[in-house]
Order: sequence, then C-alpha cells, then structure tokens
Amino acid sequence: MTYDPENIFAKILRGEIPNNTVYEDDWVLAFHDIQPQAPVHVLVIPKGAYVSMDDFSANASSDEIAGYFRAVGTVARQLGVEADGYRMLSNIGDNAHQEVKHLHVHIFAGRDLGGMIKRFRD
Ligand code: 5GP
Repeated sequence: MTYDPENIFAKILRGEIPNNTVYEDDWVLAFHDIQPQAPVHVLVIPKGAYVSMDDFSANASSDEIAGYFRAVGTVARQLGVEADGYRMLSNIGDNAHQEVKHLHVHIFAGRDLGGMIKRFRD
C-alpha cells in the first residue's frame, strides 16, 4: 500500500488540524485519541511517512525505529502508567481494522484492560 499524504495523522503532523499533544521529539508525536477507549488512550506516531508497522519495520532506518520505540516507553512513563501497567497495540491492515493509514501505536491504561483479544467464534 502506498502512503497517502492526505491521511488525518499526516495533517496533524503538518499542523493542519489540531491535536492534544502529550509528547513530541525528533522522531514522534504523541497525542490523546479523539475517541478514548480507556481512561488513558494516547496515540504515538512516527514523523516519517509510514503506512503501518509492516511498512515501518521493513523500510524505516535503525535510528527511526530506535527513536520510535524509545519514545513509546518515554510517553508511557511520562503518563505515569508503567507502574500499574498498560497495553500498547498497533493495528495493521484490514483484518485488524486499521482506520488511519499512518503508523500509530495505541497506549491504553488507567483501568483493568481485560483479556488480550476477543475470543474467536464461528
Ligand atoms: P486504528 O483503528 O487505525 O488503529 O485507530 C485509529 C484511531 O485514531 C482511533 O482510535 C480514532 O479514534 C483515532 N482518530 C481518528 N481521527 C482522529 C483525529 O482526528 N484526532 C485524534 N486525536 N484521533 C483520531
């Protein structure tokens, strides 16, 4: 899949639409999800143009990858959620219902998050 520079997170990175920023450095921007699904629900996105974790893991530089994952941990600690625990999740493609085609990791925290995944049923 090719990267669409008109996706909503690209517009946020360019400052064309507002966001509630919690952290920013050379590699990432982190901001509150517009429709939170937990008391803490923050999105961490790379500044580079990557569709998904699949694209990022295949094509990003080692510096970008290190910068991104260090920042995810930094954001979680800045939010103060590491002691009680949190979930990081990244949806990739249609089966995972990825809505926005710019890589993002969700950080969910602030309550017991339940089991890892909905059980499969026929
Ligand atoms: P996905 O399903 O792609 O993993 O998750 C996309 C997430 O982006 C959703 O949780 C959705 O609420 C969030 N989102 C979509 N549009 C916006 C927006 O304009 N601003 C913010 N802050 N979050 C958004």
